[in-house]
Amino acid sequence: MDCIFCKIASGEIPSTRVYEDDLCVAFKDLEPQAPVHILIIPREHIVSAAEITPGNSSIVAHIFEVAAKLAKDNRLKNGWRIVSNVGEDGGQSVKHMHFHLLGGRAMAWPPG
Ligand code: 5GP
Ligand code: ZN
Repeated sequence: MDCIFCKIASGEIPSTRVYEDDLCVAFKDLEPQAPVHILIIPREHIVSAAEITPGNSSIVAHIFEVAAKLAKDNRLKNGWRIVSNVGEDGGQSVKHMHFHLLGGRAMAWPPG
């Protein structure tokens, strides 16, 4: 399958990994939007959060556990943001579900 994040998960495309386990991989975003900008992806190819079902939803809880650990590791004591863009209106550019972990600066709400 021609999916850039599947290739990052398998190691076929290099990335700066900050965490991995049997279920997910976390790596630094190529174009960071904050001092800490990590992408957390399932190893399984799931297109977006719109494809979450009772059969695969446990990966989301797992990814949030990993996000909390990474936020702690990065000393984001003042807070952080986790975002998953879905589809065209959501601004999703890579069609493999991913969660942006952003921190290290104050962030505005609502996003553009
Ligand atoms: P989206 O716009 O789909 O929510 O987020 C995709 C993110 O993936 C963007 O922030 C973009 O910078 C990042 N990205 C795209 N291609 C690569 C890549 O090859 N390596 C890394 N590390 N990040 C990538
Ligand atoms: Zn994929």
